[in-house]
Amino acid sequence: MNLSAAKHRICLNDGNSIPIIGLGTYSEPLATKKGDCVAAVKAAIDVGYRHIDGAYLYRNEHEVGEAIREKIAQGKVRREDIFYCGKLWSTSHEPTFVRPTLEKTLKTLQLEYVDLYIIEIPMAFKPGDEFYPKDENGQWLYHKTDLCATWEVECHPYFTQPKLLKFCQQHDIIITAYSPLGTARNPSWVNVSSPPLLKDAYLNSLGRKYNKTAAQVALRFNIQRGVVVIPKSFSPERIKENFQIFDFSLTEEEMKNVEGLNKNVRFVELHMWRDHPEYPFFDEY
Ligand code: NDP
Repeated sequence: MNLSAAKHRICLNDGNSIPIIGLGTYSEPLATKKGDCVAAVKAAIDVGYRHIDGAYLYRNEHEVGEAIREKIAQGKVRREDIFYCGKLWSTSHEPTFVRPTLEKTLKTLQLEYVDLYIIEIPMAFKPGDEFYPKDENGQWLYHKTDLCATWEVECHPYFTQPKLLKFCQQHDIIITAYSPLGTARNPSWVNVSSPPLLKDAYLNSLGRKYNKTAAQVALRFNIQRGVVVIPKSFSPERIKENFQIFDFSLTEEEMKNVEGLNKNVRFVELHMWRDHPEYPFFDEY
């Protein structure tokens, strides 16, 4: 696979293609300043990112749309150069809600289409305007729908997903790795007793060898094996850093060694929903 900063789309089995690196845009809404997301998406497009990963749930989709539209208006990119992935949240799993919910996303973005629309998590919640519905006793209000379990897969050197990757490769399916740097370790939804990925000694030693950071090594590992990565950063330096992964490569032995770091550590465990009948992470993938 000959990937470069200028040409890094990979083919999908339906004839479409996806840029192998995207900008993640989830940032804790209460801890994020208005405008930070617009600035990050614009910085990312300037650096060369052409894939943006967002969601209505992130409450900054309007900023993502604003940044994309501004870059199109400036002539920096055309709409067709950008790959935008939006997400259907759990309160809208009822089949009749899917289209209006997607239309809400389009209206928020002020774009005519999204390139990919995925089920954010495969567990349905009670429909309504409340993103995280609970009853008067503080119990989660779940919902039952007939759901085809289709969603993205966490993937990084501590959770390399060998079985799933092999299955997908055999069936010509591309995986997108969310949390490819090991998340921002927000204790409300991340298992923070797990070791921080970017402190890993081996990733850091490879970083020293190639004059790269552990983050760049972790991202390179995934793209080198054909896995799409969507690291989130709202820092201009780190947005740039995370994109500078096309000018070095890991040897076959180093790829195997990084694969060997796998600890089956899933950072995004969504523990609070483990009693949901469709909780997905008891199953082996
Ligand atoms: P990531 O693994 O991308 O890590 C993000 C954290 O790493 C942030 O705190 C960021 O801080 C920091 N960071 C970014 N670059 C570097 C670097 N070079 N060196 C050190 N630290 C760095 O975690 P996410 O969980 O955010 O996953 C990425 C994206 O995947 C999300 O934003 C979202 O778009 C998507 N996602 C989708 C899910 C789903 O659909 N089910 C679930 C989870 C995520 P800073 O911003 O300060 O740089």
